[in-house]
Amino acid sequence: MTPNRLVILGAQVWDPEGDVHAPSRRDVLIEGTTIAAVLPPGDALTATWLAAQPAPEVLEATDRLLMPGFVNAHFHSYDGLMKGLLEDMPFDVWALHSQPAYFGKRSRAEIRARTLVGAIECLKHGITTVQDMNSLVPMDEETLDVTLAAFAEVGIRVVFSIALRDVAALDIAPFMAADLPESVRALVEGSPRDPHADLAFVERQIARLAPLPSRLHWALSPSGPQRSSATLLEGIVDMAQRHSLPVTTHVLETPAQRAKAQSLYTAHGGSMIRYMASLGLLGPGTTLAHGVWLDDEEIAMLAESGASVVHNPMSNLKLKSGVAPIRRMHDAGVNLALGCDNCSCGDCQSVFQAMKLFCTLAAVTDPSPAGLHATHAIEAGTLGGARALGLEHVVGAIKPGMRADLCLIDLTDIAWMPLNSVARQLVYSETGRGVETTIVDGVIVMRNRKLTTIDEDQFRAELADVMLGFRRDFAQVTQANAPAVAYLLEANRRVGNAPLGIDRFIRS
Ligand SMILES: [Zn+2]
Repeated sequence: MTPNRLVILGAQVWDPEGDVHAPSRRDVLIEGTTIAAVLPPGDALTATWLAAQPAPEVLEATDRLLMPGFVNAHFHSYDGLMKGLLEDMPFDVWALHSQPAYFGKRSRAEIRARTLVGAIECLKHGITTVQDMNSLVPMDEETLDVTLAAFAEVGIRVVFSIALRDVAALDIAPFMAADLPESVRALVEGSPRDPHADLAFVERQIARLAPLPSRLHWALSPSGPQRSSATLLEGIVDMAQRHSLPVTTHVLETPAQRAKAQSLYTAHGGSMIRYMASLGLLGPGTTLAHGVWLDDEEIAMLAESGASVVHNPMSNLKLKSGVAPIRRMHDAGVNLALGCDNCSCGDCQSVFQAMKLFCTLAAVTDPSPAGLHATHAIEAGTLGGARALGLEHVVGAIKPGMRADLCLIDLTDIAWMPLNSVARQLVYSETGRGVETTIVDGVIVMRNRKLTTIDEDQFRAELADVMLGFRRDFAQVTQANAPAVAYLLEANRRVGNAPLGIDRFIRS
């Protein structure tokens, strides 16, 4: 059977090695899941394709910009229903309200709905690959299968990882008052898990779901080194080697996490990065989410090891975690990716927001030109993300042989009028409003801003039904955990003011 053919005619096609302010017009030929050719207008091969039978689908793309689909390299689908429910909370207080362990088992309808909310918002913003670091609660095949089925149905590419942690405590737990009431201690310390059982679960799923469909990829995720025993981390390193899988984990997101690293890893100079290196957990296959509280020596180690960092500027700001030293990482040569993180701590799956903050936050620490330009933000949102997820030869660029993961942006939108620089207006002017068509694996999953893979009106009705129960349960969790909030805020204030060797806040 002949694979489907798609021809995109006459778009300005993003090419980081070409003119980034005025990309050339190209015709892009897609065969099945893959980009077959990128040609100047009028090429004979395009004419041959257009005349062939069966006729290919044609997208007339004059006045459109064709971008590689964006890569959202750090995301959690589990709190997709919590958009807009929380604000003005530092990280650990937010965690108390949002972590799936506090909510227990959810219905199939709710798991499907929460997954679709995040995935649809990604596709609407031209994100074609998303890394879902998913805390499966409970850790069972039903929860996993419903989640993966929702991603498959909507048609997005997913790098899926099951977040493992056998140390259940909130990061800030050791810094809480000694006279903490027992009931509050139980809330913040959680229950430890058996690392062998959880590693075996992940191993079984890798075997059970093989071979993977073409839009699904595995990664492995300890939730964070400080939330994992050495047994768990060593098990993940072993599994990553045996299956050639990338590892992505939260690292040094908050001041409490740096303080904890200093007290936990004394044998490694108080450095989480040195500790990770000692376990073989630092290398080109490793991606660190956040890295706000990395110091210069740790940044140099990352650069040397080839590890990547996913910058999540929106959630870092909303959760009061501080400003990540992105300029230093960039200068050191660390591969940078972008993430939009949870739906409840950035509240929007938009790489446009992340790209704009990537460039502009550099001014927080330095009034001089930073050398962080729109092109660097675009690289982080496309190829940098692909590299971080082990997909640099699969997605992130518009070249023959790459998967056809693409988005078309409407250059007649006011964000592009007048059109002075494609690179700069993509980062500083476009909000996502101009994303008109999204293509994943050669399939048009959004056309004229409407998804083709699911009925959005029907989904809205489904979601309204699910929210009746979810809002009730959210209120119950909030009420049950309320006694811990004041203690957490006090500990957060103390850790936030503790000398940590570096600072990621501007104190006034
Ligand atoms: Zn995260």
